[in-house]
Amino acid sequence: MKRLEIRGGRVVTMDGDRRVLDGAVCVEGGRIAAVGAPPPGFVADEVIDAAGCFVLPGLVQAHTHVCQTLCRGGADDLPLLEWLRERIWPYEAALDERAMRACARLAAAELLLGGTTAILDMGTVHETDALADELGASGLRAVFGKAMMDHGEGVPAGLRETTRASLDESDALARRWARPEVHGGRLGYAYAPRFVLSCSDGLLAEVAARCREGARVHTHASEQLAEVALVRARFHADNVAWLDGVGLGGPRVALAHCVHVTDEERALLAAHGTNVVHCPSSNLKLASGIAPIPELLAAGVSVALGADGAPCNNNLDGFLELRLAALLHKPRAGARAVPAWTALELATRGGARALGLGDEIGSLEPGKLADVVVVDGRAPHLVPGGDAAATLVYAARSSDVRDVIVDGRVLVRRGGLTADSGLDREEVVARGVEEARRVAGRVRG
Ligand SMILES: [Zn+2]
Repeated sequence: MKRLEIRGGRVVTMDGDRRVLDGAVCVEGGRIAAVGAPPPGFVADEVIDAAGCFVLPGLVQAHTHVCQTLCRGGADDLPLLEWLRERIWPYEAALDERAMRACARLAAAELLLGGTTAILDMGTVHETDALADELGASGLRAVFGKAMMDHGEGVPAGLRETTRASLDESDALARRWARPEVHGGRLGYAYAPRFVLSCSDGLLAEVAARCREGARVHTHASEQLAEVALVRARFHADNVAWLDGVGLGGPRVALAHCVHVTDEERALLAAHGTNVVHCPSSNLKLASGIAPIPELLAAGVSVALGADGAPCNNNLDGFLELRLAALLHKPRAGARAVPAWTALELATRGGARALGLGDEIGSLEPGKLADVVVVDGRAPHLVPGGDAAATLVYAARSSDVRDVIVDGRVLVRRGGLTADSGLDREEVVARGVEEARRVAGRVRG
């Protein structure tokens, strides 16, 4: 069993006491063996010198669309429903296996290099095996799901599916990929009805039934006012309240956005432990609004962060979302709203809960899986620093990420992707450019 010692850094544990220690993080067999001082007799096979660096849990992004990465720069400055119907859906319909593989590799490279070690991802309707295979091969931790779309206006033929086919394929994907022997057990499955408006009542009822039996669910909810109004017209209920009423609430459910939620819905989210995923860049770019995160947190709702997809951001940068989450709410709710430590908790422990991995990742504590990020703290824009969380949230950039470890495997070393990631930076970029061009050609027909 390989032993790794990350030595001499400032360890931001994100444990329950928010301890910051100067010392080591020792890893054995993919799990954290000790934090602070190495255990007696611990001899490392590899030592990472982290002097002058911050050592923190890998960032968790609990709402991404890796499959949209080749559409970066291809759908800018449009409102949500137009953005979806005119750009995103035609793009997704044109993705074939080759393009999906290139897309997933490009996203995985960006995520890993930027210090994101785990994601909750929504795919498109098809090519999900290729997506899962590439995410798994990259060494990232990913809970993924194919998008479910059996209903709604403006859905292109290439994405429309029957209720039965959607459920059968989702069930098969969960059985095939979410297994300990596949890609080191780093893949999990979350059923992903795209949003209420793309799903029939029957499909949502079937997903709710699986959720009651233990399955995870990842969907969008109450992102924009037009969407909320259409849901109200269809069900005579508010979006989040309706989902909760049919059983799509609770700790196994992650709802992206929740920008427009009523007081009653906020109480339901808190009472049932439903995860909300805050996507500040996406909400700004699509003009969705600003989610009431201070109020959700005050009510006790579990909140995570996500970049959403490349076409609505246009990065998959956990550090950008972290900074924005801490800044965005202050003009309305005051300078104390979402302080740096809270933002960092959303990006680590909050994300871990949204993936159903709260006991396994999200903090650096003995026994947890070794998903660790080393951030170089010696850049001019990071000194003299002061409070560790404030430095990481307000001053650090993803380009300060030096080393990234997932499951005890070093995937980024000194700013470069390692052989364990299976990703070659030049190849990933070249293939991404080439496949994006080919997909754009397929969209134009
Ligand atoms: Zn999304």
